[in-house]
Amino acid sequence: MENCIFCKIVRGEIPSKKVYEDNEILAFHDINPLAPVHFMMIPKLHVDSLAHVSGTHNDVLGKIMVLAPKLAEEQGCKDGFRTIINTGRVARQDVFHLHIHIIGGPDVLPPMLYRPKPA
Ligand code: 5GP
Ligand code: ZN
Repeated sequence: MENCIFCKIVRGEIPSKKVYEDNEILAFHDINPLAPVHFMMIPKLHVDSLAHVSGTHNDVLGKIMVLAPKLAEEQGCKDGFRTIINTGRVARQDVFHLHIHIIGGPDVLPPMLYRPKPA
């Protein structure tokens, strides 16, 4: 994908702080971190979002899930971490190349979602 930011990162056309790389997967720090640990794991092959995956992604997504806790631990998540996959408009997905956020650090994170007070 010519103009996809994360494909450009995969190709090395945009610099990134890499956490992990193999032939199928790239993990790199978020440019605008929301917590002391905040990196993304992506399949190198472009797919727009989790809503666009198929059986061809079984292998790479399985590998990402198994790798996630290892990388999180190495990056300083000693007592848990949060994974977030924003998918589509409703979830306010910004970058349309599937990515799994890994978020954590030493402190307890804020609640997953804001719970509106009853009117
Ligand atoms: P989304 O809202 O799509 O789930 O998250 C996109 C994430 O990508 C955001 O957290 C944003 O900070 C990050 N991001 C956007 N552009 C870049 C970039 O050029 N480099 C890196 N490392 N992260 C980026
Ligand atoms: Zn892409």
